[in-house]
Amino acid sequence: MQDLRISVIDRCNFRCTYCMPEEDYGKHYSFLQKKEWLTFGEIVRLTKLFVQLGVRKVRLTGGEPLLRPELNQLLTQLAQITIDDLALTTNGSLLSGQAKELFEAANHLRLTVSLDTLNEEIFHKMSGRRGSVAKVLEGIQKAKDTGFKNIKINAVIQKGVNTTSILDLVEYSRQTGHILRFIEYMDVGNCNHWESTAVVKSKDLLAQIASRYPLIPAVPNYFGEVAQRYRFLDGKGEIGFISSVSQPFCGSCTRLRLSTDGKLYTCLFACDGTDLRTPLREGATDAQLITIISKVWQKRADKYSENRYLFQSLKTHPPKIEMYQIGG
Ligand code: SAM
Ligand code: SF4
Repeated sequence: MQDLRISVIDRCNFRCTYCMPEEDYGKHYSFLQKKEWLTFGEIVRLTKLFVQLGVRKVRLTGGEPLLRPELNQLLTQLAQITIDDLALTTNGSLLSGQAKELFEAANHLRLTVSLDTLNEEIFHKMSGRRGSVAKVLEGIQKAKDTGFKNIKINAVIQKGVNTTSILDLVEYSRQTGHILRFIEYMDVGNCNHWESTAVVKSKDLLAQIASRYPLIPAVPNYFGEVAQRYRFLDGKGEIGFISSVSQPFCGSCTRLRLSTDGKLYTCLFACDGTDLRTPLREGATDAQLITIISKVWQKRADKYSENRYLFQSLKTHPPKIEMYQIGG
């Protein structure tokens, strides 16, 4: 295990159609109660144990992590743990107001901001009529001005939805220097009405982008790097593709995911997690918690992405955890 993703809140101020569609997560949907969330103390304790077991990278996510009250206090504590990388994925809508306190809490924090289009109309449709491109761009600019380095942009492209935004996003990334990562549209959770026909495969994206901006493959930074990276031939930065649908990487996956209520998952497409909150709250020792976590990792045999089409055709896969519960 190397890479831990922690969902700090299951709520979100957007209703992206590919993640938490409005029709399923309307006003009356009941999210976790505050007492069910892992406390900052519990998150920090568990993180230290994961680090003892080999974790080198920690990413905070959600739901929308900037909705978690006093997130900067958690970051201050996590910043003191020795790891290679502390990162946070956000939809960027609240970033302009929080960039300064996030930076003061952890000035080495790496930000990833999700942005699927620069077109306000398309954005509105994709975010479930929440937020705006202008506000996200303002947040990214504020983060940059505050001192954040290496800001990344995540974009999910869906056929018939935002394919017209591909080259705009590439141009934005080249102009600003923010590294763009295209993530293939995935069948996460159970309610995003995923169809394989709506997936724009990385190889098709690559071909389209390379015909306008010549690219050369970049050498992977480390074993198990999920993004396939390419450099622009003219030296104006790089771009990456995460191809979990067209080129699954289950075999080299080193990720673990901790849900807001303290369940540990070994796959984004898992159905069940292992409850760590109960033993934590019942007074388990560090050694006991390490034993539980190690057993989960040793038993890991997830291969959902490699068998996706089999599951789809048999329709036998039990309901999966939702993306907003364990984060992307
Ligand atoms: N709310 C934050 C955000 O949107 O950045 C963090 C949580 S979100 C679940 C993390 C990432 O998952 C985002 O970049 C989002 O685009 C991605 N994501 C959500 N649903 C997806 C799907 N069906 N396929 C591919 N990526 C998805
Ligand atoms: Fe919220 Fe992020 Fe999911 Fe969009 S992708 S609904 S912003 S959690």
